[in-house]
Amino acid sequence: MNLSKKCKIGIVLFCLFVAVCAGICVTSVVQTSSAPKNGQVIVIDCGHGGRDGGSVGVGGTIESDINLRYGKALADKLSASGFRVVMTRKDENGLYDVNAKNKKLSDMQKRMEIIKQANPALVVSIHMNSFPLKTASGANCYFRKGDKQGEQCANLIQHTLNAYCGAPNKDARVGDYYILNCSYYTSVLVECGFLSNPEEEKLLNSPEYQQKVVYSIYAGIMLYC
Ligand SMILES: [Zn+2]
Repeated sequence: MNLSKKCKIGIVLFCLFVAVCAGICVTSVVQTSSAPKNGQVIVIDCGHGGRDGGSVGVGGTIESDINLRYGKALADKLSASGFRVVMTRKDENGLYDVNAKNKKLSDMQKRMEIIKQANPALVVSIHMNSFPLKTASGANCYFRKGDKQGEQCANLIQHTLNAYCGAPNKDARVGDYYILNCSYYTSVLVECGFLSNPEEEKLLNSPEYQQKVVYSIYAGIMLYC
């Protein structure tokens, strides 16, 4: 039976709702209802690293550290479902050549090389947001302009985040980011929440909320792939 994407979203969201109501561990819901992914390659890119910590939360959270935690948790779930996961970085270090004059450029070029070598079905880049207005909140998903597959995947992730993590009801947006533009592979960038919002920074650091966000990204990927 061929289910439409909308129908699949409905089923997954219904399962999530039932699981939450029943107090069941939600991590098993999609895994058990989907076939193994037979080694499809997904690149997980944890933003920043090394001397580039990214945003700093009002309570001192370093973005590069929390990106790595979320990215590793997502990689574990995807691997358990049969994907072959390639991570652009697995530790706190950046990817730049220490002798490079422009370390940011060197870092991003290395990420591009890893993506091209991996020849992935999907690239997912994990970041945390920051904004001068402290009340800004919620997760935002981005795709490259013209990347129709990326748009579809970004919306599946965004809508799961909206439903499950209480993100404001919105669609994914076009984003002009190097990691999206550096290849022609289907790519999504997820800003998981705002470190500039004191309440959201605390939430993002809690294991329970991390599990919800990671699960939402994972569920969106499972719907897409
Ligand atoms: Zn970032």
